[in-house]
Amino acid sequence: MCVFCQIVKGEIPADKVYEDKNYLAFKDIRPKAPVHILIIPKEHIEKLTDIDESNKHIMGDMTVIANKIAKELGIDKSGYRIVINNGPDAGQEVYHIHMHLLGGKRLIFAT
Ligand code: 5GP
Ligand code: ZN
Repeated sequence: MCVFCQIVKGEIPADKVYEDKNYLAFKDIRPKAPVHILIIPKEHIEKLTDIDESNKHIMGDMTVIANKIAKELGIDKSGYRIVINNGPDAGQEVYHIHMHLLGGKRLIFAT
């Protein structure tokens, strides 16, 4: 089972900032910015390539959750970056689709 599925199941601890029936958001273990949150669907989907007509709502849902968290953490006005690494050349490390929410400083290049 992948590391993010283990977090969903509670088998690995995570610093959760948001949870609902289908999604979970938690702090990245190696933060690359003052705010670095990962937003994931609880369903195991490997990567962005696996998004199609049948599950494209996941992209919208994760965006809405990211915006909500950004507001709660007070970076909605200062701005933030959303990143999805897809596959080897993008440096995807965990093959369970996730959105990075990065902010809290002027970002040059991150993750
Ligand atoms: P990727 O390169 O796949 O887009 O990013 C994976 C991210 O997951 C990395 O930023 C890494 O620090 C984070 N990460 C990997 N394992 C864990 C973990 O067990 N817990 C948490 N909270 N983050 C993790
Ligand atoms: Zn998984």
